[in-house]
Amino acid sequence: MNDHGQFIGKAKEILGAKGMINGPEALDFLTDITGRGLQCLFVARPANTEEVSRIVTLCHSEGVAIVPQGGNSNVCHMAVPTQDRPTILMSLSRMNRILEINPERGTVTVEAGCIMQTLQEAMAEHKLVFAPDWGARGTATVGGAVATNGGGLNVLRYGTTRDQVLGVEVVLADGRIWDGLRALIKDNSGYDLKHLFIGSEGTLGIITKLTFRLHTAQAHSRSIFASLAEPSRLMEFLAAARAIGGERLTAFELLPDLGVEMVLKRYPDLKRPCETRSDWYVLVRMSDNLDVEEKLTALYEAGFESGIIDDAVMASSEAQEKNLWEIREQMIPHQYFGAYKMLKWDVSVPVDQIMPFLAAAETAIADIDARAFSYAVGHVGDGNIHLSAYVEKTEAAEPIANRIYARIDALVWDYGGSIVAEHGVGSLYLDRVREQKGPLEYELLQRLKTCFDPNGLLNPGKLVKN
Ligand SMILES: Cc1cc2nc3c(=O)[nH]c(=O)nc-3n(C[C@H](O)[C@H](O)[C@H](O)COP(=O)(O)OP(=O)(O)OC[C@H]3O[C@@H](n4cnc5c(N)ncnc54)[C@H](O)[C@@H]3O)c2cc1C
Repeated sequence: MNDHGQFIGKAKEILGAKGMINGPEALDFLTDITGRGLQCLFVARPANTEEVSRIVTLCHSEGVAIVPQGGNSNVCHMAVPTQDRPTILMSLSRMNRILEINPERGTVTVEAGCIMQTLQEAMAEHKLVFAPDWGARGTATVGGAVATNGGGLNVLRYGTTRDQVLGVEVVLADGRIWDGLRALIKDNSGYDLKHLFIGSEGTLGIITKLTFRLHTAQAHSRSIFASLAEPSRLMEFLAAARAIGGERLTAFELLPDLGVEMVLKRYPDLKRPCETRSDWYVLVRMSDNLDVEEKLTALYEAGFESGIIDDAVMASSEAQEKNLWEIREQMIPHQYFGAYKMLKWDVSVPVDQIMPFLAAAETAIADIDARAFSYAVGHVGDGNIHLSAYVEKTEAAEPIANRIYARIDALVWDYGGSIVAEHGVGSLYLDRVREQKGPLEYELLQRLKTCFDPNGLLNPGKLVKN
């Protein structure tokens, strides 16, 4: 038996037959939305923190790398092996229990492999809200949400996933367990270590349990879909929504006409919300314990009177509300433009720069290749635009793509932005992020990585280059 055979044998003793997957079944774990990762020795599916700790200790002593995985719903090739070295993939999917709901504190403690939607639904039964929410809610785990500091649809009202985390339990790179599972709002007793693990993409430790802050559920939630007559005045409409809605404003999304068209073509059961066509639409949601119709009507009237919008519809039933949000959630470009080479950015710019940035990006792309086109969907309130560009798949596609990437990355930087807003770095953005950060900032990131994972065994080749 070679070294790996012995290693696998020891791991099997810890995990048992149920906790280890080999062979063709392991392939399912190695593929994500961006393609196939490299091989792993096996997929570990530990049942509890103790097993995670024992496996990590074993990997630490044998020099085997570990790629943690939740729901594998990330879009940056970050939960599969990408380096050619002995590696195991550790799926947290069996660690999915809700451990303690505490309504007085407004907290829940949960294992990291719990699916987001499962937690959302369980909390709804207690009239409480687990705030992180996005299209992959039925696949993504809470551990993955925290490890990527996911954003999504509720950031405007509740903040990012980071803002929901009160405590973490983490297995460190040498297998020791750090119990930071506190439920404190205030704790200035030193560096706030939990924040280092939030958004660390499995490169600093393996998150095994979490304590989250919850919010009171709102009885009413409604949305309007409006066509923008003057997209350059988007900020005025956001300001009006904030002024009228206050903290009732829970989402403010920017949708392109091309996206609406593609979604309706692919999903004929969905209905076009309003007849007036314009380049851009906004989808605005307000939530409260009292009906929000009056507030939404006021916004709608303000939009018409000022000439910013020229058509709008307010959802008047649950089915209409669902229709509007289904259109938003199906605006996934991967579904529609497969015939082209896709280039993508998860851009963050100061909110008032969204429309100027989009106009500049469109011009820059057309200057490089007149046949290329761009597509953008945005969480406007957060300054976050999911931008992609499409280039014809000809022999020249690669050099054209490289020029567009370089130009748009530079443009994002010129606008005071980031090329990674909420999806994370993974292996996909590794080189480009290094280009954007100054040497001092990058050195600090590398030193943090080395401090927590001196042997570089945790999710190597992701987030930061060593
Ligand atoms: C349709 C769709 C819509 C999406 N919309 C959004 C959106 O609006 N906003 C947004 O932010 N994201 C969005 N995403 C991306 C994705 O859902 C998030 O990144 C999510 O947080 C990933 O969770 P996961 O459990 O699938 O993690 P995975 O994809 O399995 O892993 C993500 C990263 O976290 C690490 N990781 C996972 N679990 C742990 C753990 N327990 N301990 C340590 N590290 C861990 C992995 O190693 C990897 O680096 C979307 C994805 C899809 C497919």
